[in-house]
Amino acid sequence: MAMKRHVIVGGGTAGLNAITTIREYDRGESEVVLLSGEWPYARMVLPYYLGHEISESHVFTATATRLAKLGVKPHIGRRATALDTKNNKLTLDDGTILEYDDLLIATGSSATRPPIPGANGPRIYNQWAMDDTRGVLAEIKGGMDVVMVGAGFISFTILNSVLSHGVNLHVIEVMPQVLPRMIDREAAILVQDWLRGRGVHIHTSTTVKAIEDVDGRKRLLLAEGGDLMADLVIMGTGIRPNLGWLAGSGIEINQGVLVDDHLRSNVSNVYAAGDVAEGPELITGKREVHAIEPTAMAHGRVVGANMVGRDIAYRGSLLMNILDVQQLDIASFGNWSAADRETSVLLEPRGHIYRKLVWDGDRIVGAVIMGPARGIWTTNDVGMLKGLIYSGVHLGAWKGYLQEHMKDLKKPFVACHVIRDMLPVTVLDHPTVPARDVVAVEPAG
Ligand SMILES: Cc1cc2nc3c(=O)[nH]c(=O)nc-3n(C[C@H](O)[C@H](O)[C@H](O)COP(=O)(O)OP(=O)(O)OC[C@H]3O[C@@H](n4cnc5c(N)ncnc54)[C@H](O)[C@@H]3O)c2cc1C
Repeated sequence: MAMKRHVIVGGGTAGLNAITTIREYDRGESEVVLLSGEWPYARMVLPYYLGHEISESHVFTATATRLAKLGVKPHIGRRATALDTKNNKLTLDDGTILEYDDLLIATGSSATRPPIPGANGPRIYNQWAMDDTRGVLAEIKGGMDVVMVGAGFISFTILNSVLSHGVNLHVIEVMPQVLPRMIDREAAILVQDWLRGRGVHIHTSTTVKAIEDVDGRKRLLLAEGGDLMADLVIMGTGIRPNLGWLAGSGIEINQGVLVDDHLRSNVSNVYAAGDVAEGPELITGKREVHAIEPTAMAHGRVVGANMVGRDIAYRGSLLMNILDVQQLDIASFGNWSAADRETSVLLEPRGHIYRKLVWDGDRIVGAVIMGPARGIWTTNDVGMLKGLIYSGVHLGAWKGYLQEHMKDLKKPFVACHVIRDMLPVTVLDHPTVPARDVVAVEPAG
C-alpha cells in the first residue's frame, strides 16, 4: 500500500511543529512534503539577531540535514499558488502539481504598509522577515535618526535591539497611545513616560501622510503639520494572513481559515495552523486569529497528531503578549480589555507599576501587568498570572484577598494548586518529547 502523503505548506513555527509531531508518532511511516517560500526560521528570534546577540544562523530552525533526518522532502523557495480540494492537488509557482492525502495550511502572515506616497522607497524596511532584518542591519549606524512607524507589539519587540545600535529613535503611532491592542491607556501612559525618560521620542495621535527623499535622507510629512527627518524608517504597520493562494479552493475563510477544535477546515483533509488559522480561543471557545508564537506551536502540534490519525482536541489558545521594553516588563493576557466586566486595578505611576485583573465571577479571564524588571517580582508574577488564567481556577475567597493585595499573586497561586493542576495538562496525549530527539527511523522516499 502506498504511504500516506502529508503536504505541509509553510515552514514557520506551525509547519515545523506539525512535521516534528508527525514524526514523533509515526517514526517515518508516511511521506512528508514541505513546501515553503522561505527556509524555516523563527521570526520571534529576529530581534536578537538585529541586536547582534546571536548570529544569523541561529535564527534558522531546520537545516537540510535535519529535514533529511526527519524524512522530509523539501521544496524551499517555491510558493503555493492554487489549491484544488476536490482532486487533492496543490499547484506551485513553477507549475509543479503536488498531490496529497492531507494538507496543512501554515503560510503565516505578511507585513502590510499604509498606502502613503513614498512608503515603498529606499531605506524603509518592515520588521517581519529575515530580509527586513538583514536590510536594517546593513544600514543602521550609531548616531542615526531612526523613525519607527507604528507602536504595536511587533515594533516593540525590536525596540531594544534598535536602541542598542546607539540611534536617536522616534516612534510614531496613529492611535492616541502606544501598544493600543496590547494594554490600556493608563498602562500606555506609563510606558510612554518610561521611554521618554530613556531618550525615545514618542509621537502619538500622529499620522504620516507622505515620505520624501531629501539629500539622501527621508522626510516624513505629518498630517498634523510639520515633519520629521530620518536616515532610516522601520514600518511596523500591521500584518495580514497569507490567504490569496486559497482563492477558489472552497476553503472557508473569515479573518483566517476557519478551523474546528481539531484544527480542520470545512474540507476534512485540509488543516490550518498558526497565524493563518482562526481557531478556538481558550476562555470563550470563540474562533479568533492569534498571531503569536505559542498558538502557532500548539496548533502545529495538534495538527501533526491529527494528521497521523490521533484524535486530539485543542483546548484553545490564550492570547498573550509579553515584552521587555528597556527593562520594563509588560504583559497582557486573554480578555484584558473587557469593558463590560468587573475589574480590579492597581496603579502606581511613580513606580511605573500597573496591574489590572478582569473577572468572570471568581475566575481571572484577562489581565495586564507591568512594572520594572528590577529584582524579579514582576517577571515572576507574569508567569503566575498566566497560570491563574490558563488553568481557569476558581479563586473562591482568594478573589477578595487578591483585590486587597494586588501584588501578592503567590499566595493564591500556591493555595489554589495551580501548579498541581497545570502539570498534567499536555497539548497532545503524552508529555512533550524534546524536538531534537525526534527522527524518522526510516526516512521516506
Ligand atoms: C520581529 C518579530 C518578533 C516577534 N516576537 C514574538 C514574540 O515575542 N512572541 C510571540 O508570541 N510572537 C512573536 N512574533 C510572532 C510570531 O513570530 C508569529 O506568530 C509566528 O511566526 C507564526 O508562525 P506561523 O508558522 O504561523 O507563520 P510564519 O512563521 O510566518 O511562517 C509561514 C511560512 O510560510 C511561508 N509561506 C507563506 N506563503 C506561502 C506560500 N504561498 N507558499 C509557500 N510558503 C509560503 C513563509 O515563507 C514562511 O516560511 C514575532 C514576529 C516578528 C516578526
